[in-house]
Amino acid sequence: MCRECKVREAKLFSRGSWLCEDCFLYSVERRFRKTVRKYRLVREGDKIALAISGGKDSISMLVLMSKIADEMGIQLAPFHLNLDMGEYSEKAEKISLKVAKSLGLHLEVVRPTEELEVKIRRMGRRSVCSVCGAIKRYSMNKFSREIGANKLATGHTLDDIASIFLLNFLNRNYDYIRKMAPISYGAGKMVTRIRPLYYITEFETKKYLELQNIAYLKEKCPHSEGAKTIELKKVFENLEELVPGSKASFVRSMRRVIGYEPEVAEVLECRICGEPTSSKDRICSVCRMRRPQSRSVSSQSD
Ligand SMILES: [Zn+2]
Ligand SMILES: [Zn+2]
Repeated sequence: MCRECKVREAKLFSRGSWLCEDCFLYSVERRFRKTVRKYRLVREGDKIALAISGGKDSISMLVLMSKIADEMGIQLAPFHLNLDMGEYSEKAEKISLKVAKSLGLHLEVVRPTEELEVKIRRMGRRSVCSVCGAIKRYSMNKFSREIGANKLATGHTLDDIASIFLLNFLNRNYDYIRKMAPISYGAGKMVTRIRPLYYITEFETKKYLELQNIAYLKEKCPHSEGAKTIELKKVFENLEELVPGSKASFVRSMRRVIGYEPEVAEVLECRICGEPTSSKDRICSVCRMRRPQSRSVSSQSD
């Protein structure tokens, strides 16, 4: 029997307890709202760009954000980055458009590889995933700013946060952990980032959509994600079986022990394209990829 309502039959095991389908859906929505409220992710009048890949996490975020948009007085601007990787990208675009339309939202399709004249491929020492990640971060921020959004929401889940924390902890990269908060305030040309699924797991996003018959892209990216993050997610799956709630406890403990700084100090601007960069020589990662020789050329002109 369901542990919440104690009436209906329990069908899912989630976060250490057996729940019926209704109570499960409610628990996901309740935790999403709690995160949004507690960390003040949105304010009345916000225009929020939503990065929608078509996968279960971003589609769940789209559905959940659409539920709070009216009551919180916020405007949603979903967009999809088509990264021109053949059939996979076409499918991802189609699903994103379809779900947005079903919610009565207009979704903008952006083609960064055309605009930047780059291909998603291995470049020098950079893996395909790292090239893809750099282009995505660049384009998401640029697009959000250009349409006048004051916030950019991404579908990072608790599984993402936990594995990113563990990886950076092992690399002793504590600054990165400090910045990966539910909200990271922007500065200059950097738009404020929000991560409303911070305490929602991937198991939950998947079930949340499946129970409501909402479509999402099931295929994994043809290049697949960084193998390390996938392996780290498996570590947490094992841990979760031993100690239910491990992911959430781990993330909360890390935030407590290492601390968090949602404020961004100063943002530099790339001297080639003008987009924000943290690189001291002021050449952003995308410009560096597009013009591998740019480093020597620009240092001569100094
Ligand atoms: Zn129930
Ligand atoms: Zn640049």
